[in-house]
Amino acid sequence: MPKNMRRKVIAGNWKMNMLPNEAIEFISRLENEVKDTKNEVILCVPYIDLFYSLLAVQKTNIHVGAQNVFYEESGAYTGEISPKMLKCINVEYVIIGHSERRQYFAETDETVNLKVKASLKEELKPIVCVGESLEQKETGKTENVITTQTEKALKDLTGEDVRNTIIAYEPIWAIGTGKVASANDANESIKKIRGKIKELYGEDVAEDVIILYGGSVKPENAKELFSMSDIDGALVGGASLKVDSFSKIVNFDK
Ligand code: PEP
Repeated sequence: MPKNMRRKVIAGNWKMNMLPNEAIEFISRLENEVKDTKNEVILCVPYIDLFYSLLAVQKTNIHVGAQNVFYEESGAYTGEISPKMLKCINVEYVIIGHSERRQYFAETDETVNLKVKASLKEELKPIVCVGESLEQKETGKTENVITTQTEKALKDLTGEDVRNTIIAYEPIWAIGTGKVASANDANESIKKIRGKIKELYGEDVAEDVIILYGGSVKPENAKELFSMSDIDGALVGGASLKVDSFSKIVNFDK
């Protein structure tokens, strides 16, 4: 693939929001707004909404993802959901290692890697989140933090596995705060992540892998961010909860 021919991907992360009836209504309104886009549209919804959302997106160009998964196939793990369970109802994507899960639910680089491997085994595509805290940014550790997180998340994967994985660079200080990284800074960080993938898997894989930016993306800043050489779209939190703002981000190129 020639350089910069990667598709654009806009993934919404609803977090712990939206009841099933709201999900169905959202999708029925979004469908019309995004039907002509060439960009890939993904909604990562709470578990309770998955089945309803999957029914609602039939005959649309909207894809559905989950927000977490466990790494074991089955067994005595009360409250957990396996990749096989997600796959069997046709879930395509799963967010792994979101900073909120790292912060509140003891997710580590090791569990992220186990979840990535278990998901790929079931052909469920991981959206792996990496990103530095404000303190790490201010002490000049961004590059080290994000490339180390990337390397650990992708440990033991093949090049093909990595091509089927999306990375989301999400500086923690920009998530839900209204503070967006400058397009240049976000692009530079994403280049560092792509550089690490090149070092580990070679140039072809690095050029193919989709790397998103996440952190206070809105209709007003999407176009500038997505025009950068290495930013292939966004993982969108707050602005994915309204059809109007999310569809404007998806249609940034209209
Ligand atoms: C997120 O939760 O992944 C995110 C990027 O949130 P927000 O867009 O609200 O900053």
